[in-house]
Amino acid sequence: MERGEAKSKKAGGPPRLCCICNERRPVLKRPKTLQQICRECFYEVFEEEIHQAIVNNGLFKSGERVAIGASGGKDSTVLAYVLSELNRRYSYGLDLFLLSIDEGITGYRDDSLETVKRNELQYGLPLQILSYKDLYGWTMDDIVKMIGLKNNCTFCGVFRRQALDRGAALLKVDKLVTGHNADDIAETVLLNILRGDIARLSRCTSITTGEDGPIPRKYCETLTLSSHTYAYFKKLDYFSTECIYSPNAYRGFAREFIKDLERLRPRAILDIIKSGEDFRIATTTKMPEQGTCERCGYISSQKWCKACVLLDGLNRGLPKMGIGRARGGGVNGGDHKKETKAGSTVKTLESKQCGSLDF
Ligand code: SF4
Repeated sequence: MERGEAKSKKAGGPPRLCCICNERRPVLKRPKTLQQICRECFYEVFEEEIHQAIVNNGLFKSGERVAIGASGGKDSTVLAYVLSELNRRYSYGLDLFLLSIDEGITGYRDDSLETVKRNELQYGLPLQILSYKDLYGWTMDDIVKMIGLKNNCTFCGVFRRQALDRGAALLKVDKLVTGHNADDIAETVLLNILRGDIARLSRCTSITTGEDGPIPRKYCETLTLSSHTYAYFKKLDYFSTECIYSPNAYRGFAREFIKDLERLRPRAILDIIKSGEDFRIATTTKMPEQGTCERCGYISSQKWCKACVLLDGLNRGLPKMGIGRARGGGVNGGDHKKETKAGSTVKTLESKQCGSLDF
């Protein structure tokens, strides 16, 4: 028996009906509109909102090659499924690919990649997998062995962000799309406020980021709202285990805090995201100057990009070298000079984690 059905029977009145079709029993209440709707109308509304977001924001052009960041988790699986459906239904004319990053986490990423490999066959989308081992010479298992569990997500997030861009370049795609859930985005808004990271705060809720970088990234807000429900009802094949090197205390604290707020006020998560979207950054706020890393050529506001700084520390057996120094200038002389010139707040080291994809 579905939840809506149970309630109306208890009340003894006629069964409540879906407030869109007025025919079928509702199975859920949408957090965004508080409407009680049936499964079929939910699919339609969910897919249509994503389509509208794509059209209204001009996310794609016919003929473009688009990589979907695929972790095997529910958000990226829903994104891959819905985007391939909409591409067919509305003839977007996109060449879609799955792009996965293998961080080298035994017992976690190897299992989730098996899910992505099944998705490759289920959705008929070619899959490209890039590994940290091939790109950087290190797996996360190796890194955790060296540094322990305190700053592992910093390394992982920084490396993943760059790995995705490298994978997108390898596939010669025009765009990279990633799916995120509402909790992750609300956490990121809050963390960026707590860190005073104005640069990230200003872009963490944008539908498009990285336009100044090699590959623009897109994400769709609609996906953030109900992807778990959609994945569950559609019985999509996704992987839901947490990373064995799970999130550090700081993000974990923000997550708990947001969940507590949600218990008191169910709209809290959506409102935090809305606040993030509506922030106006003062025009006098200095933003980091974007340039390229002198070492690898990747986009960077410093002399060396963060991945090169962290990698250099690992290779020299000094892994803490790049940690916790984002504000005061990095290593190797270049960071501090550039930062002082810009007089700005710079990107923090810690990236969004986990299981999913960085933005
Ligand atoms: Fe990487 Fe995420 Fe695991 Fe941290 S929790 S080590 S960022 S996969």
